Amino acid sequence: MLPLALAGLAVVLVWVAPGLLARQVRLRRAPRAALVAWQAVSLGGVLAALFVAPAAVPELLGGDPMADHPALVALAAVASIVVLARLLLSGHLVGTRVRAARARHREIVDIVAEHDRGGVRVLQHPTATAYCIPGRSSRVVLSQGVLDTLPERQLDAVLAHEKAHLKARHDLLLEFFTVLHESVPPPLRSHRALTEVRLLVEALADRAAVRRSGEVATARALVAIAQGRYPDEAMGAGTSAPVRMHLLAVGPHPVLSATAYLGAVVAVGAPVVLLSAAWS
Ligand SMILES: [Zn+2]
Repeated sequence: MLPLALAGLAVVLVWVAPGLLARQVRLRRAPRAALVAWQAVSLGGVLAALFVAPAAVPELLGGDPMADHPALVALAAVASIVVLARLLLSGHLVGTRVRAARARHREIVDIVAEHDRGGVRVLQHPTATAYCIPGRSSRVVLSQGVLDTLPERQLDAVLAHEKAHLKARHDLLLEFFTVLHESVPPPLRSHRALTEVRLLVEALADRAAVRRSGEVATARALVAIAQGRYPDEAMGAGTSAPVRMHLLAVGPHPVLSATAYLGAVVAVGAPVVLLSAAWS
């Protein structure tokens, strides 16, 4: 029955848990821990699905009398092979797509932008826009509108935000999440999950901005660039500004963080425990 338990766990973690987690907006107050919980739930779901086949092996080989549903077990095993195939395909497609789009955008920025302010690229455009193009050869891109309208302190907040994305490689985190997301069949995908993870990444970068320039300057900078446009594959500084402004003044929340970390351990630990039980 353990392969079926793993299949059930996979459905819960992939389909049910993201909806529940996205509803817990309180978790935004502990963005780092919340991101760990999100990753753990996604990873746990995929692990549970992948472990169905190896967990079925002892039952099928040993003619275990507990294996009273051989057809179901075989079906679950096929499902986990399909999950692995989808995961590999999704990893390849997402990786290729994201890297190609960024390389193209970086090329354009290098051609049209003026080099200014210690490696930051400046676009001659009046709209206040700021974003970064992550990757091994990363760029921070500001519009002339940002330089013209934002006072020094707010500009520092914007730069601290973008540099936090690049330094912490938030792009890899989002890519990991997108790969898992797209490996799930479309009807089972939770779009709220991806939206929430993007917001948490922004909230995390905002904390770096607050540490650099304080809450007020960061909030003003957020408002100033909220209307700015930026390419999809880049990480714009002004997305979901109203929600993020509320989070700027929120301090650390140890209880929420601890709960999220505990949930993360359970989500990844449960499939591992079930698989080792199948083989013991
Ligand atoms: Zn950002």
